[in-house]
Amino acid sequence: GSSVSSGQVRADGSPRLEAFKLYIDGEWCESASGRWLETKNPYTGKAWAVIPRGNAQDVDRAVQAANRAFVSGPWASMHPSDRGLLLHRLGDLIAANAERLAELEVRDNGKLRVEMLGQMKYLPRWFQYYGGLADKIEGRMPPTDKKGMLHYVSYEPVGVVGAITPWNSPLLLTVWKLAPALAAGNTVVIKPSEYASTSLLALVELFEQAGFPKGVVNVVTGLGAETGEPLVEHPCVDRIAFTGGNLAGRNIYEAAARQFKRVSLELGGKSPNIVFGDAGIEDAVKGVISGIFAASGQTCMAGSRLLLHSSIHDAFLARLVEVMKAARLGDPNSPDTDVGPVATEQQLQKVLDYIELAKEEGARCILGGRRATRPECGEGWFVEPTIFADVTNDMRIAREEVFGPVLSVIKFDSDDEAVALANDTPFGLAAGLWTTDLARSLSLPKRLRAGTVWVNAYRVVSYLSPFGGFKESGLGRENGLEAIYEYMEAKSVFINP
Ligand code: NAD
Repeated sequence: GSSVSSGQVRADGSPRLEAFKLYIDGEWCESASGRWLETKNPYTGKAWAVIPRGNAQDVDRAVQAANRAFVSGPWASMHPSDRGLLLHRLGDLIAANAERLAELEVRDNGKLRVEMLGQMKYLPRWFQYYGGLADKIEGRMPPTDKKGMLHYVSYEPVGVVGAITPWNSPLLLTVWKLAPALAAGNTVVIKPSEYASTSLLALVELFEQAGFPKGVVNVVTGLGAETGEPLVEHPCVDRIAFTGGNLAGRNIYEAAARQFKRVSLELGGKSPNIVFGDAGIEDAVKGVISGIFAASGQTCMAGSRLLLHSSIHDAFLARLVEVMKAARLGDPNSPDTDVGPVATEQQLQKVLDYIELAKEEGARCILGGRRATRPECGEGWFVEPTIFADVTNDMRIAREEVFGPVLSVIKFDSDDEAVALANDTPFGLAAGLWTTDLARSLSLPKRLRAGTVWVNAYRVVSYLSPFGGFKESGLGRENGLEAIYEYMEAKSVFINP
């Protein structure tokens, strides 16, 4: 399996840590580097496992294995219906192993266990949906204008896919890539985040159990510079599917461009959550809270800008603060916890720096505004849920992605002003609006420059619906019918008999 109980001994004699392995060509192995990276638990601040510190040699072995599996071997000749069956079987195995997968991810990134268990219940849907689609991607035969010729269009897998994923939702965001890529007949090399790789390694054990041929799915853990970059630059990788920050996204896009490599990029956001004067206040308060404080604000679709109509501004904020004051921070495993830690020590510092910056910029802190030192937070990396009022849209706190539990509140007076503020951002991932006015519900979604728009809802995503960003929030779409075509090339064939 992915981990060995004998563990690694640390040089300083401290307790043995669970040691995980790479998965290359159907074998669990250590890195050619012989080195390891510690994985820490954000709730305790302590290391609990080690993962191999992969290098370019590991990446090359994994890509060669994926390439062999793509070109020859059972996967290459497998009927799409049989690929679909394997994906269905994997969905069943995820359901049966939900507890372990959830437990590992909670330990890795501090996400609430309740939320993870919910996610694990939903995750099989991706494999069922794309498993079902695998044998329904049909070619077509356009009426050709080339006299006497037979013309048809077929869809073929792109080849070897490199999937590079972040720490905030390691399983979900990797599954969004794996399910359509495999259904389309590709093979995959996964480079999970160096901060949260273990749940993904446990998922890959299930691919083995489901009976996927060797080389179809491979995992190389390690740092972005040591494993991510060689994966992007490897000439046998045909397509990169990336989720993460805009800095890495830009580097990857540039490196991929040199080889005209196909890419999809799911990047950051600064999504507006717009509350109009006629909104149902209690629902809107709940939606705004889940938009920014779920997963401690570490979601790409976080509703980090609250645009509030002046007529309800003060009353709405009073209610929001009242509800959030009662929020319980603490052990992510406890069902009573509302807000868990942030995932990494670096992220904790980054969020605290943004909080200081917002204060310097003149935003008014009406809740939180510091590291949480409540006894139930122990040594964990917790930030108090934080709300800044009197933010203007030109402040950095309103323009840059914080990726933490920090909400910026901006006041508006008219629909046109709300739309202008909402769109005045380099990002375009998502937008929420809260109103009971039917005309507004119908007319505003079209005016918002974002890949997903919610009306009287927030954070709704589905395997059935394309997800992705306008503008600097990324390129391409995941989920829905759109995603399977992202992993295929269209081929035109002309036959002159
Ligand atoms: P990141 O973009 O630094 O890393 C994401 C993945 O890319 C990791 O696996 C990393 O090892 C890899 N990587 C980094 N540089 C690379 C390169 N040049 N070539 C190839 N692979 C590379 O994101 P992170 O460290 O997880 O978090 C950093 C910031 O990104 C966060 O603070 C947050 O603002 C943002 N973020 C956004 C999302 C999102 O879903 N939009 C998710 C996580 C993080």
